Amino acid sequence: MTDSLHIAVIGAGLAGLSCATALQAAGHRVQVFDKSRGPSGRLSTRRGEGWQCDHGAQYFTARDPGFRAEVARWEAAGVAAPWLARLGVWPPGSAGVAGVVSEGEARGNLRPLESSDPRDPLAPGALQRFVGTPRMTAPAAWLAQGLTLHTEHTVQGLQRDGGAWRLLTAEHGLLADAFDTVLLAVPSPQAGPLLGEHAPALSALASGLRMRGSWALMLRFDATPAMPFDAAFVNQGPLRWVAHDGHKPGRGEAATWLLHATAEWSEAHIEDPPETVAPLMLAAWAELGGPPPAAWTAHRWRYADTDPACVPPETGCAWLPEQGLGLCGDWLHGGKVEGAWLSGQALAAQVRGA
Ligand SMILES: Cc1cc2nc3c(=O)[nH]c(=O)nc-3n(C[C@H](O)[C@H](O)[C@H](O)COP(=O)(O)OP(=O)(O)OC[C@H]3O[C@@H](n4cnc5c(N)ncnc54)[C@H](O)[C@@H]3O)c2cc1C
Repeated sequence: MTDSLHIAVIGAGLAGLSCATALQAAGHRVQVFDKSRGPSGRLSTRRGEGWQCDHGAQYFTARDPGFRAEVARWEAAGVAAPWLARLGVWPPGSAGVAGVVSEGEARGNLRPLESSDPRDPLAPGALQRFVGTPRMTAPAAWLAQGLTLHTEHTVQGLQRDGGAWRLLTAEHGLLADAFDTVLLAVPSPQAGPLLGEHAPALSALASGLRMRGSWALMLRFDATPAMPFDAAFVNQGPLRWVAHDGHKPGRGEAATWLLHATAEWSEAHIEDPPETVAPLMLAAWAELGGPPPAAWTAHRWRYADTDPACVPPETGCAWLPEQGLGLCGDWLHGGKVEGAWLSGQALAAQVRGA
């Protein structure tokens, strides 16, 4: 191993937590910074008076052996579980055989992926879908427990101070700590400006990978509507995905549903106010047979996923050993929760080998 380094990880989403955990385990001194009030990034759950709803990532799959082992650790810790949902496709038959349920059917947003038996989520060997329990943030919160995490630290700039790095934050100004290494685990549009003058090639890489927005609408009902599915891929109109959030394990069958709009529709409406967007999404929900909710809450994701036209580097991360600067995140590893975790591991391996 290299000498113990003092490392700053910017971003406490799964990529940053995965990277930080691996580097700390390797004996480095690691501090994690995030602009939000807690860890987890887009593995996100909105909590209100008497209700909660996952409004970012909906579930995750685990194909890589290393990630499967990590998910097994999460299951053992009680922070993740398989989600056995009745999955539908709308309109029925719109994507091959009615009831086909591979991610590839979600229009444009989720990339086609292979599954041993995509048609039946309950069949032996079928693609397993996992969720955080009792909410999607749980695995990230579990990982963060063992780390030094500074929340409400929005990193606005990196400063070179002799041979070390210092962090300029919006809330606390220039931090006193000096770091050997800074690892950015933030979405590409947020990484580019931070890298700017220090690493023009990495900055160009980040700026060249466009991310797309997504509108989410959380619906609360007095009683759970009877729908023919627990979740469905939607192939017409503004919606791409609807899910009974309360059906996920650990949610107690709460009468809460989540609607996600397509990337294209969301981008076209990204500057619209929730009051304009929500009625259009509710009209699409009504076309699926969904009743009007008792209440709704909208959330605009500006950076939900990477434009599928963008090609990330094969390494799954980026590392400049001379500067002690690195990049990880889902956008460098094919998108999705699994890609975020793998990207963090890939960067940690590169730093360990430095
Ligand atoms: C609507 C939606 C639906 C999705 N559905 C799925 C799905 O069903 N399945 C799936 O596998 N994936 C899904 N995803 C994608 C999945 O959520 C991501 O791939 C994964 O969570 C990304 O993790 P990450 O650590 O790379 O980035 P993030 O989770 O975005 O973490 C980045 C962190 O950096 C912080 N940050 C940013 N800028 C700064 C700064 N300047 N200073 C300090 N902190 C900063 C942020 O606050 C954030 O916590 C979905 C995402 C969205 C938004």
